[in-house]
Amino acid sequence: MHDVVDSLGDRFRTTARTASAKDRSGLQAAVDSVDLDTTGVGNAEALREVDALYADNAVWFHHPSYVAHLNCPVAVPAVAAEAMLAAINTSVDTYDQSEVATLMERRLIDWTCGHLGFTGGDGIFTSGGTQSNLQALFLARENVVAGLVDTTHRGGPTRPARPDLLSRMRILATDQAHFSVSRAAFLLGLDAEAVVTVPTDVTGRMDAEALKASLLAIDANDQIPMAVVATAGTTDLGVIDPLEAIAEVCESVGVWLHVDAAYGGGLLWAPRRAHLLNGIGRATSVTIDFHKTFFQPVSSSALLIRDGSLFGPTIHHHDYLNPEAEAQDDDAEPNQVDKSLQTTRRFDALKLWTTLRARGASEIGTMIDTVCDLAADVRQLLDDQGDFEVLGTSDLSTVLFRFTPAIADAQTCDELVPLIRRVLFRSGRAAVARTTIDGTPWLKLTLLNPDTSIDDITAVLDLVRATGHGILAGRTLENEGELGTSATAEPVPAMTEGGAA
Ligand SMILES: *Cc1c(COP(=O)(O)O)cnc(C)c1O
Repeated sequence: MHDVVDSLGDRFRTTARTASAKDRSGLQAAVDSVDLDTTGVGNAEALREVDALYADNAVWFHHPSYVAHLNCPVAVPAVAAEAMLAAINTSVDTYDQSEVATLMERRLIDWTCGHLGFTGGDGIFTSGGTQSNLQALFLARENVVAGLVDTTHRGGPTRPARPDLLSRMRILATDQAHFSVSRAAFLLGLDAEAVVTVPTDVTGRMDAEALKASLLAIDANDQIPMAVVATAGTTDLGVIDPLEAIAEVCESVGVWLHVDAAYGGGLLWAPRRAHLLNGIGRATSVTIDFHKTFFQPVSSSALLIRDGSLFGPTIHHHDYLNPEAEAQDDDAEPNQVDKSLQTTRRFDALKLWTTLRARGASEIGTMIDTVCDLAADVRQLLDDQGDFEVLGTSDLSTVLFRFTPAIADAQTCDELVPLIRRVLFRSGRAAVARTTIDGTPWLKLTLLNPDTSIDDITAVLDLVRATGHGILAGRTLENEGELGTSATAEPVPAMTEGGAA
């Protein structure tokens, strides 16, 4: 353990690359060269070996030039807590496997519910936003089936059979909602057409008037609105759907409102941006990923429910874990497995607990404000440069942009987006992401490191520019029948620090 701490400490101080120096075939060869069937090499040697194989070839989210996906650098107290919970190996499924851990997890659920404004709320830690969203929609489905969500007027005096209900259920979300929503609909056995796309305004936020119209259409078609999914912090554009207006519409028809705040949930504690989540307390359920905007190691996510009794229709009892006979006792043991899709489950809550005690929620919230401020500064920086185009106005910390030099036409600029990402990633000097919005490809920065400065991002943009020019130059050579370097293969030689070609 001490050796690992020392070697990782050195790496954090010195790692100059965002990704491995080896290409995929080199990595595959290194992985394949290890014989997993020999007698053991001993702890120290095994750890030296994985340090060379894994740590040396890792993608380094902590590097200031890693600005690609929604993976945050992590709080050190959370890492220490991670080692502690792994060593003790608590499972927060039943009380008799966890005791105080269950009470600590429940306290953090209460704490989060308090910040959401969920009095009488409940919740559960999960493996991530994907699982939180799946469970939220599972709960919505089962509460609708059980008739506990107000859809009675659609069922008539005798409730329709379950298959009929399931085939008529609809989930309303925008095209910017996370893909885990449609994946969940699939897993939940809903109709192939179950996810109805609600139009957005020009900024990519859900149009609440259009939501109202979609709900009317669902009603007219004798379908059942199972849930509305609003996103607080869309994965690409980083925008927050208008939660108050959406809640208003959902309350007027009595439909389950799930707010996917996997990305934006951290704003609850951000002194200057918490107001952006106004209305979230009117949701029926909320997803928050502490492993995205609360600097927690993966996994750390929670599903919060405004009314704890909504877990009711999904609780199962098992004689060897949480027998039904005991559940009615006055002093029944609190078994978190009642509410979880998992059985054996990590005590991830300890990481959040330790971080809160070590740094305090407001210091963490201020870090979230810092990365959002940086994103605003970067957008301004891009706006001021003639050879970059920038899209939208994020509420959070993503920036979508394209390299659009005067010498390249629109189609070439489109083609450059994935090429720049790949060449840059392979160079190990910076990592940016890419996506497509309304048919147009964009490069994406996701800023989650409060230590990253505008100068760090300026250097990344210089690399993007140099890479783009390098690819364009390589293509020109190819077109002339010279021995041009294929843009898709290896890093472009012309890619020098700072300078455009
Ligand atoms: C990342 C993300 C998810 C999925 O969360 P995981 O923790 O990766 O499973 C869901 N919704 C949104 C909006 C996200 O950004």
